Amino acid sequence: MNYDVIIIGAGPGGIFSAYELLHKTQGLRIAVFELGNPLEKRHCPIDGVRVKNCIHCPTCAIMNGFGGAGAFSDGKYNITNQFGGTLHQHIGKTEALELMAYVDKINLENGGAGTKLYSTANTAIKTLCLQNKLHLLDASVRHLGTDKNYVVLENLYRLMKDRVDFYFNTPVETVRQSENGYTVTTKRGEFFAKYCIISVGRSGSKWMERVSHEMKIPTLSNRVDIGVRVELPAAIFAHLTDELYESKIVYRTEKCQDLVRTFCMNPHGAVVSENTNGIVTVNGHSYEDPEKHTENTNFALLVAKHFSHPFTDSTGYAESIARLSNMLGGGVMVQRFGDLIRGQRSTPSRIAESFTTPTLAATPGDLSLVIPKRILDGIIEMIYALDKIAPGTANDDTLLYGVEVKFYNMEVELDEKLETLYPNLFVIGDGSGVTHSLSHASASGVHVARTIASRLNTAD
Ligand SMILES: Cc1cc2nc3c(=O)[nH]c(=O)nc-3n(C[C@H](O)[C@H](O)[C@H](O)COP(=O)(O)OP(=O)(O)OC[C@H]3O[C@@H](n4cnc5c(N)ncnc54)[C@H](O)[C@@H]3O)c2cc1C
Repeated sequence: MNYDVIIIGAGPGGIFSAYELLHKTQGLRIAVFELGNPLEKRHCPIDGVRVKNCIHCPTCAIMNGFGGAGAFSDGKYNITNQFGGTLHQHIGKTEALELMAYVDKINLENGGAGTKLYSTANTAIKTLCLQNKLHLLDASVRHLGTDKNYVVLENLYRLMKDRVDFYFNTPVETVRQSENGYTVTTKRGEFFAKYCIISVGRSGSKWMERVSHEMKIPTLSNRVDIGVRVELPAAIFAHLTDELYESKIVYRTEKCQDLVRTFCMNPHGAVVSENTNGIVTVNGHSYEDPEKHTENTNFALLVAKHFSHPFTDSTGYAESIARLSNMLGGGVMVQRFGDLIRGQRSTPSRIAESFTTPTLAATPGDLSLVIPKRILDGIIEMIYALDKIAPGTANDDTLLYGVEVKFYNMEVELDEKLETLYPNLFVIGDGSGVTHSLSHASASGVHVARTIASRLNTAD
């Protein structure tokens, strides 16, 4: 079957490629292949009662399907070049910011109206951080919330479904260059298009590695972030979250000079588990709707690990650590900060006695048996540093869930158009290793769609 453009993956990258192609062209035949379900059929079986832990579904409802990994995310849409990816290194800082603002506008037009845009500009919190050896990164952040984010996705799908052929439950198996285009194979047969956009996200990392290898597309892989998710009473961080919603704060450890940072802050949110390639790690989200708010705030504390020659398998390293926590805890493990400091494991009774009620039913355990000492020391140092700007962070009852891992896909060699060495074969979003966020992934989709549209219009 022939198309003009084939898009592999219906996460934010794929969705915004399709959206912008429809916006900039007429009568284009577009196919989107997605290994997961349509949005309304995405249901994670974990209900905290009958199913408490990940049961390793064939496709993970949290990670796969229309909306991609972002579908049930907190919908924190960060407009910044300081984190969330390195898109600006390819397309330039100004264009990257313009595209993120453009996607934000589309989100608002499609159900996100009324949501708040927070900003770090002129905040006194920056000074408070600096006085305590902490560094607050600059950003504007739109908090769509898990609920509104879902509505935006529903509306975008409705807008596109009659003009784009969506193939759900249809993983693309192989991609190969054929005469004047690309052929992809799926269980429904072979499909051809002149233009091919690969947007397979984090869950498609192994697939992307294989395809890059088969097509001899150069890649680079040397980074992974490892840490824990911290959960504490929302009141402790309220002065930060009320003003900024999400604060990205970086700390350099005194002991090893490692960088530890806060990541994915969810005021009044919930901690969740996530399954990537069969490995269960921890994450978090929160709702915009006050009725769904919890008493707690959660955020990750991550330490970046860069490897150099001869080691290249940074993902394998982090997976081994996550596997260890899965082995000991059967999934995600939780420990009180006080127990960690005293060198004792948390037990179900210690967690039950805690003044902070966990929002995820994780297995009480000992994170020091899982996380490498250097990384754990860095996290402990940062908790004490955060305690100075948010007193109470280092309380005994602060909960630490492990392991949170931020896998960075190996970076695919791409030019400023996000095009591979093969003409008209583009790789975007988290699957390219260039982006790590909703905003950067979406913006990369728009960027590539505009390139294709201009090539098509020139050819006309
Ligand atoms: C719980 C959670 C919360 C998050 N919260 C935030 C947040 O608040 N803010 C933020 O900026 N980021 C957040 N993120 C990260 C964000 O969701 C991702 O950065 C973003 O979704 C990346 O978009 P993408 O399109 O590149 O990839 P993805 O969203 O991962 O989409 C890729 C899609 O490709 C499909 N796919 C994979 N392989 C194939 C194949 N072979 N054939 C067909 N389809 C395939 C997958 O099923 C998936 O649906 C969160 C992630 C998670 C898991």
